Amino acid sequence: MAGTLYTSPASLAIGAIAGSVTAGCIAYVSGSLALLICSIGIHLVGVLRVASAVIYLRVQAKETPSEQLHWERNYEIGAWLYASLLGAQAFLTLNQSSNTILLLMATIMATGYSAGVAARNAGRPIIAIGQLCLGTLPMALGLFLMGTPLAITLSLCIIIFVMGMVDISLQIYEVVYTALSGKQEKSEVAARFEKMARSDMLTGLDNRLAMQMRLGELLDTIDQDNPDKLTVIWMDLDHFKTINDTLGHLAGDKVLIVTAQRVKAVLGNRGWLARFGGDEFVIMAIVDSAEEAGRLGNEILDSVSQPVSINENTVEVAASLGVAVAPDHGRQSEIMLKNADIALYHAKNEGGKRVRAFEPFMHEDFLMHRQIESGLTDALANEEFTVLFQPIIDLETGRTKSCEALLRWNHPELGDVSPAVFIPVAESAGLIGDITEWVLRKACEAAAKWPEEINVSVNISPALLKQNNLPVTIIETLVNTGMVARRLELEITESVLLDKNPHTNSLLRQLQKMGLRLCLDDFGTGFSSLTYLRSWEFDTIKIDKSFIRNIGNSPTDQKIIGAVVQLAKSLEVATVAEGVETEEQLQRVREAGCSRVQGFYYARPMTAAQASQRLSLEDLSDPDDQQIVNLR
Ligand code: C2E
Ligand code: MG
Ligand code: MG
Repeated sequence: MAGTLYTSPASLAIGAIAGSVTAGCIAYVSGSLALLICSIGIHLVGVLRVASAVIYLRVQAKETPSEQLHWERNYEIGAWLYASLLGAQAFLTLNQSSNTILLLMATIMATGYSAGVAARNAGRPIIAIGQLCLGTLPMALGLFLMGTPLAITLSLCIIIFVMGMVDISLQIYEVVYTALSGKQEKSEVAARFEKMARSDMLTGLDNRLAMQMRLGELLDTIDQDNPDKLTVIWMDLDHFKTINDTLGHLAGDKVLIVTAQRVKAVLGNRGWLARFGGDEFVIMAIVDSAEEAGRLGNEILDSVSQPVSINENTVEVAASLGVAVAPDHGRQSEIMLKNADIALYHAKNEGGKRVRAFEPFMHEDFLMHRQIESGLTDALANEEFTVLFQPIIDLETGRTKSCEALLRWNHPELGDVSPAVFIPVAESAGLIGDITEWVLRKACEAAAKWPEEINVSVNISPALLKQNNLPVTIIETLVNTGMVARRLELEITESVLLDKNPHTNSLLRQLQKMGLRLCLDDFGTGFSSLTYLRSWEFDTIKIDKSFIRNIGNSPTDQKIIGAVVQLAKSLEVATVAEGVETEEQLQRVREAGCSRVQGFYYARPMTAAQASQRLSLEDLSDPDDQQIVNLR
């Protein structure tokens, strides 16, 4: 850099003043024209060099590489010219004057200057050595031409002195160079570490730290006068845990890398992508409007939701995205991230594989979700759960055939929370295993006290069928409560079978082999595929209450129920009509041929004590007494 050459204009000025005074004296005293010209040259070049150093320091901020080269050249020329003039002055003085003081002045000036610059400009050996030679060698020549032995000896000494100084200059240069390049190496290592601290090792994307810093910077540019908006899109892969659990972490890593590449390809230079951690990514982009942000979200969703090939497997990948737009939804990074996260939560809750834009109402839902999630953690320990039992009536005998165990939760602040609300939260929070274990125990403890022909059914969440420990839990519960396997029925929903997960299938077969009964719950809400009935030996099918609700005014629904019941009958599978509330609904399901009924018409869910009381009353009554059905 030219800057190092011009660092000290003061030293240049001192040298120039000393040079001008000496040259002036020598020219004046000697009266030589050549020395006068030399003196004027020394004066002019000295002034020009000081002036250029001052000018350089003023303009250096705007320095471009070519300008730098230009300044460096200027310095070089000035330095060589000045040294040449001092050298010439020494030569001429030696040649033309016999005044000892003048001789001393000229030679000291040339020698002192040369020695000084050799140190000052050691960082540029060409300049330093050039100045040294140009300043001293003419003096050596002048002495040599004097021809006296002493002058010739001094001339040779000067040449030796020059050689020594050249060597010293080169050594200083080497020391300076090593020190500077070491410093540069150190700063390169520091830069590498800084980059590592800011990037995600797996995908090479910005990590959470870098993303948060960038988000802060971008949000600073979004203000009232700026029509641009900043979108923050929070993306989370759907069922990523299943990919990791079933195909292994390497497969999971590949999915993450491919996902990152796909999003980057969609974004181009339109925005920034960062990996927030796990399977979560954050996208930031400047957009014109909230609509454009939504379009970008959908483009990303389309590109990400493509299969990924891993060895021989093809993995289906999908994602959910939550979109927030600044300044509409916030101006601070934490708020923007939170709102995008809330929108993402809604996208997930609606089934995933979709883009949802943030809306203010989502905030309350989200808080509720959080409250439920944190409440669930302590609910078991705080004994906030109870299990109710809802009788299922055999239409032929009018007696209770079994009871469904239904979980109830009384939250200390929210009051009664429906299982339809908290069960999905318990599933996503990984708490469903402990909760089901508890329900199973309560259900078996109660049923162990009932007459032997009465079964109990327990709802098993799909998430549990993906784990291995369910059979062990069930066996332990049966042993501890003294219940027989044949009296325990597990209710599962169609979604479990839709998944076609080989692990789930083998687990279900294992449970059947243990003698447990299987019930297909909520039939009619999912795919309603009759092939399940053929390929699975269900003991019971429950026709969902949404069908029963319409049965009175929809002849089609009644026909569908009739067809399902006939098929079930031919396969010797019992059918339960769920949610029967009225006499008319009861009549219709009876006509359709359903074998059992569950609903408020007969009985609402009741406590274990109430269920026991009801069952013992039934036991005492005449088996043909249809009155029992009115015990509600
Ligand atoms: P589900 O398994 O389909 O349970 C039947 C639901 O229908 C129960 O709702 C029950 O109270 C309700 N019901 C019964 N008869 C009638 C009726 O005549 N009219 C109307 N409108 N509703 C009726 P609940 O107890 O609110 O449970 C809702 C869902 O929560 C259950 O649907 C089940 O999927 C889930 N659930 C409940 N307890 C558990 C549990 O211990 N574990 C798991 N995994 N899920 C559970
Ligand atoms: Mg059920
Ligand atoms: Mg149901």
